[in-house]
Amino acid sequence: MIDVEEAYKIVTSHLHRSDSEEVHIEEAMGKILDEDILADRDFPPFNRVMMDGIAIDHHAWQEGVRSFKIETMQPAGAAQTILKEKTNCIEVMTGAVLPQNTDAVIRYEDLAFEEESLVKIDMDEVIPFQNIHLRGTDKKKKDLLLKRGRKISAADVAVMATVGKSTVRVIKAPKIALVSTGDELVNIDETPHPYQIRKSNIYALQAALKDLGCKSENFHLADELDSVKKGLEKIFEEYDTIILSGGVSKGKKDYVPEVLEQLRVEKLFHRVLQRPGKPFWFGRREDDKTVFALPGNPVSTFMCFYKYVKPWLQLSAGVKPKTTYAVLDHDFDFPPTLTYYLQVKLGSSESGEVMATPVKGQGSGDLANLLEADAFLELPKDQQHYKKGEVFPVLIYRDIL
Ligand code: AMP
Ligand code: MG
Repeated sequence: MIDVEEAYKIVTSHLHRSDSEEVHIEEAMGKILDEDILADRDFPPFNRVMMDGIAIDHHAWQEGVRSFKIETMQPAGAAQTILKEKTNCIEVMTGAVLPQNTDAVIRYEDLAFEEESLVKIDMDEVIPFQNIHLRGTDKKKKDLLLKRGRKISAADVAVMATVGKSTVRVIKAPKIALVSTGDELVNIDETPHPYQIRKSNIYALQAALKDLGCKSENFHLADELDSVKKGLEKIFEEYDTIILSGGVSKGKKDYVPEVLEQLRVEKLFHRVLQRPGKPFWFGRREDDKTVFALPGNPVSTFMCFYKYVKPWLQLSAGVKPKTTYAVLDHDFDFPPTLTYYLQVKLGSSESGEVMATPVKGQGSGDLANLLEADAFLELPKDQQHYKKGEVFPVLIYRDIL
């Protein structure tokens, strides 16, 4: 049996060789950008009026003119108009191009209408370029806006739309199959007998993958040697990453490790010094197919996903996973020599630290606990007593802000 550090090292040194693909920006959220996005023109692309009001030549103001005749109107989305008389003005709307021969915008709030087309400026001072967003002040044409390797956010989608990228190049996620095993499992739209339960793991994994911009397909295999073998053989034909749940422990019907080896998947490890998730099996086939065979207990599956599968996917896409830390806020004992993933609720202290409070009831089958907790606090295996105030890495699975 190997420890968590070694298991992590083995997993993250067998990455998926990612290609890239072109996707529509509506599909790009959460994916990893595989091109640099440059400004296609200056931002803003013209001297842009920032307030509804009038545009004047400030020299006229300096020379003592206070009442201005409105020559015409410059709405947003219209071609640039020209001020003919220096002592006149043009009525302008927010988002419009600043009219030629003008260099200051006065808001309606600072104007008094003397007649329908005669306005008086009711201000002590007019500053050149006031209320004007000057061309190119945010970004110049060809400036780098978004760098390759970035995880695409909603704000990034807005930027890509602005520069006219209807499609973008992103890292292609591996083709992932999620496979549950177990004769006690029924579909979620069925009513289980008292001795059955509904499948939940593949749905949890599917949702967690979606959060990372990855799609997956669900499969189920019966606890029978031949079914597991035939089923997996078929799945291997089509998918490059196979995430199994269940069937990797020491039960009489836990056929997964045996079948994987029959299918020439090289076992890189089986069993890790951790709780939950001890029976975790990981392997790789010559054709670069990767297999995560996770223990079936819902909490084990969940924890192994966040500890191993998520960083594997991130690193495969060229993204460095972030390690986050939290402060344990209660003493906690765990004597076995195993890394313990303590389910914790996160909060913040008055001094701004992230605080982790253990959630009661810690069985690895205890799905309900996942609802109360936000994260797993990683308690190192060579310690038995974990003291209030000590800092440990934390695997966060819920948006806590
Ligand atoms: P196993 O790893 O196959 O021995 O399963 C361990 C425990 O997890 C058993 O109590 C299973 O019923 C449960 N389990 C296995 N797979 C799933 C699943 N897909 N959804 C929910 N529970 C599961
Ligand atoms: Mg099973």
